[in-house]
Amino acid sequence: MIEFRGVTKRFPDGTVAVDDLDLVAERGRITVFVGPSGCGKTTSLRMINRMVEPSAGRLEVDGRDVLSADPAELRRGIGYVIQQAGLFPHRTIVDNIATVPMLLGRGRRAARDRARELMETVGLDVSMAGRYPAQLSGGQQQRVGVARALAADPPVLLMDEPFSAVDPVVRESLQDELLRLQSELGKTIVFVTHDIDEAVKLGDRVAVFRVGGRLAQYDEPGVLLSRPVDDFVDTFVGRDRGYRGLGFLTSDTIPLGPLDMVSMGDPLPDDGWAVVLDGTGRPLGWVAAGDGPVTEDTVVPGGSLYPVGSGSLRGALDAALSSPSGQGVAVDA
Ligand code: ADP
Ligand code: MG
Repeated sequence: MIEFRGVTKRFPDGTVAVDDLDLVAERGRITVFVGPSGCGKTTSLRMINRMVEPSAGRLEVDGRDVLSADPAELRRGIGYVIQQAGLFPHRTIVDNIATVPMLLGRGRRAARDRARELMETVGLDVSMAGRYPAQLSGGQQQRVGVARALAADPPVLLMDEPFSAVDPVVRESLQDELLRLQSELGKTIVFVTHDIDEAVKLGDRVAVFRVGGRLAQYDEPGVLLSRPVDDFVDTFVGRDRGYRGLGFLTSDTIPLGPLDMVSMGDPLPDDGWAVVLDGTGRPLGWVAAGDGPVTEDTVVPGGSLYPVGSGSLRGALDAALSSPSGQGVAVDA
């Protein structure tokens, strides 16, 4: 668990990059920092492994204050992946990855064996082990970067716009791979991006920052999208960026159609059906059309809201098909 309590970073020139940040990144979850350029995402991330020192407040990793930890020891437990994979150009792929296990005292052969395992983990064909970084595509280089970050088997992984430089199709497959990896390895991941679609796809919880380094909202993606706290978040998560909206998944069969949202006590919809939200924006269930108010008796409980990616119904259908309980799909498009 990573806990920011009133953390501020003021650089020597007076720039306040992060302003009084309160946030908990849960163990074994993906927490995303998103926001426009210059809003303090990278600075927030780098305080976690103490590449940047907080100026005020308290920042704990697993209950230990980062400022009183030994930086080298702290970083051993924290993998770090950045946009440019930063591979050693004159070393082969396998040796780029094996460097870390070797530094940790494994023999060359054991380290290379471990590196080959990690290539498989991140979806790289082991036949590429002997190639040099320049002989790999951008997406493949990022996979090597992720494999290298995993080499020390750190419980925490920090990722700063790791997929921003690769083309959209490859980016999607890297995102899918990360989700798969996460469900297998259960790392605590803090992921920085400026792309709201990427944020809602990957994040168990998403922190939206505004310029000036202030946290605007920190919520599950469904809550963020259904209940933005203010105009800034509303605009950022949405409408003017071609964002399509929300889908609703339930084990009941309901028709694909526009998504209406109501609260307890509202009138039932005139036709079709509507998702019922609680006061915080989480779905309680859905209601069919009828007369009278939405009450405990009329709500069919269950279901979840999820973001529909920036294109079409495809994301909704994929999500429905891959969800163990999901059959009903509704899209606000
Ligand atoms: P983001 O990653 O969200 O784009 P950063 O965390 O990199 O934002 O930067 C936040 C703010 O802090 C920006 O205004 C940036 O110019 C400033 N900043 C970052 N690093 C330094 C530094 N070493 N010295 C002074 N200002 C900095
Ligand atoms: Mg940045």
